[in-house]
Formats: sequence, C-alpha cells, structure tokens
Amino acid sequence: MTLAAYALINLAAVKHNLAKVREYAPNSKIMAVIKANGYGHGLLQIANALQGVDGIAVARVGEAVRLRKAKVKCRITVLEGFVCEPELNALIQYKLDSVVHSMGQLDILEKLSGKTPVSIWLKLDSGMNRLGFTTDQFVSAYQRLEKCPGVKQPISLMTHFSSADDKHSHVTRQQIEIFNKVVDSYPGEKSLANSAGVIAWQEAQSDWVRPGIMLYGVSPFNEYHGVDLGLHPVMSLHARLISVKIIKPGDAVGYSGTWVCNKETRLGVVAIGYGDGYPRTAKSGTPVLVNGKRVPLVGRVSMDMITVDLSSQPESKPGDEVTLWGHGLAIEEIAVAAGTIPYTILCGVTQRVRLENVTAQ
Ligand SMILES: *Cc1c(COP(=O)(O)O)cnc(C)c1O
Repeated sequence: MTLAAYALINLAAVKHNLAKVREYAPNSKIMAVIKANGYGHGLLQIANALQGVDGIAVARVGEAVRLRKAKVKCRITVLEGFVCEPELNALIQYKLDSVVHSMGQLDILEKLSGKTPVSIWLKLDSGMNRLGFTTDQFVSAYQRLEKCPGVKQPISLMTHFSSADDKHSHVTRQQIEIFNKVVDSYPGEKSLANSAGVIAWQEAQSDWVRPGIMLYGVSPFNEYHGVDLGLHPVMSLHARLISVKIIKPGDAVGYSGTWVCNKETRLGVVAIGYGDGYPRTAKSGTPVLVNGKRVPLVGRVSMDMITVDLSSQPESKPGDEVTLWGHGLAIEEIAVAAGTIPYTILCGVTQRVRLENVTAQ
C-alpha cells in the first residue's frame, strides 16, 4: 500500500466518449483536442487511446513534436501556430499543421520556398477577440496565403466560439453567421465547434469538429454533468485516510481554524492537498467519498492533506480508500464547490499524482 495519491485514467471511457462525439456529429471529421497534457490525463496515453481519430490538436509546437516523436501518425494541428521561423521549420520537419492568425505569421510564411508545403488553418476572429484575423483583414490574409508557394492549397478555415456553453446566448449564432458569410466562397475545409458547439450548436458542426473536454467525459455546460450527456468520466482521483481521531466541541480544524466543530466529531485526515492539484478553494461541505460513501470536507485544504467529517462512517480507519472525484462523484460537482470549472481542476493535477491506465469500464 502506498500513501501517494493516484489518478486512474480509464482509456475505455476515452474510446466511448470519442464514439459519442461521432454520434453527436456524424457528418464531421474529428480533431481531438489533447492540449495541456491531454487536459491533465497524460498526452501520449490519450493520443494512443484515440487511435483511428481523424486528427489531433494541441496548443504548442512542443506538444505536437512530442506526439510525432512517439510515432503518432495522424494529422496534428497546432492551435496557437508558430511565432518565429525556427518554430515554423519544426512544424514542417514534423509534418504538423498550423493555425495562422496574425500578420507576423504571414510575413514568415511568405519567405518559404515551397519545397514541402505546410498545411494551415486560417483563423477568423468572429467575435472572441483573442486570436484570428478580423473580418476586415481576412480576405487580404487569404489572398496573400493563396500566393505562397510554401502553403498547401486549398487553405482550411476556422474560428472559435466564446460562449457556446451558453445555449441561450446570441453570440454563438452571430459568430456562426459571421464565419459562414466570410468563408462561404472558399473551397477549403471548415471548422467551428468545440465540445459545447458539438452538442448545443448542430449548425456549427461543419467539416471538422474540435472536441476537448467532452472526450474526458466532462460536460462543457454548467447545468449538466458529463453522464447526463452520455459521456463517461475518464479520470478518477484517489488517496487514502492517514489518520482518524475524535475532536471535541469547540475545536477548530486546519489553517486559520475556519471550521469549528459543534459536537464531538470523528475527524479523518486524507493524504491529498493542493500540492496534488486538489483545489484549495474547495469549501467546507465539498463531498468526498470514503469507502464509496459521501462525507463532507471540513476546514481548509492544505498542501498535502484535507480533513473530512467521518461522523457518518464509524468503521472508517487509516488506510481506507478515498475518492476525490470520478466514478460516483462528478468533477463538475467539485468544480462548483470550489468556485471553478472542471477544466482548471483537471489541468491542475500535479506531477506528484501517479497516472495509472485502466481499460475496464
Ligand atoms: C481548447 C480548444 C478547443 C476544445 O475546447 P473544449 O471546450 O475543451 O471542447 C477547441 N478549439 C480550440 C481553438 C481550442 O483552443
């Protein structure tokens, strides 16, 4: 037995969720988004579990090169593209596709000889105001790229949604309209939808969809859990009870004594903390599973430990298994209790946590 926290990564669930994406978007190709170490699940393991997918997307050149070096063969797109010639050369050397979103990138591409043309996704800023050419700049950017011998034709076209997780927002409908109007006459393949777009905005599915969070079994919407959408959670995070004690009425627990017990209480200490990626902002009352039963977190989350009220679990003892999220306890619920979103919690799992692959359902 070890006290180290560990995360079980259910690769069968990844395959299930990929199949679900196919059901949601049967007429689109799928570019699986596995940036940030596969949303904290392990880049290479997730890439391998996605075998047969049409393409993969990551944020940075380094992530894409790591995939190629691990013999991942499918189309890989770098969502932030390149910032300098050496990065563009790496993209070409490793046969990686690049998003192109800025004038500076055009200047660099125009210097290419054309020996091995690079595949690009030209990005329209349809309203998010982060990356991409504005509608005013787009046509001239497209025309410049059409003339580049180093750029493979036809150019693919994309945009990204700012508010697709809000089904009632008019912003997404506007973004879809703006994108369609601008790219309508161009022959290249088109892509708009992230996970929320795939599920809530069917008209945005187009040639390629770019699901991220849903592949990990997690809902992109605040009002649903992944299971409500037919998804299976991929990660479950586990640790162990390392101490059980009785504390007296009036005793204050943890840093700053934020939780004071009002009756004699059976208190458990669990070997997990923000040093493992458990969110420090998780409030007293956040559910934790001890031997499969819900108990509330009490007091502050510290670096290596949390404290739980075991009053409802008189049999619990040091060594017992604790689940922080996963099967039976949705990470969406933990995110709400911690005032954050599942994305940040998943990406925040630290290197101290051992990732263990399982393939059983
Ligand atoms: C991260 C990202 C996605 C995936 O978003 P999810 O909400 O995780 O599905 C898709 N497209 C782009 C450009 C992204 O940066």
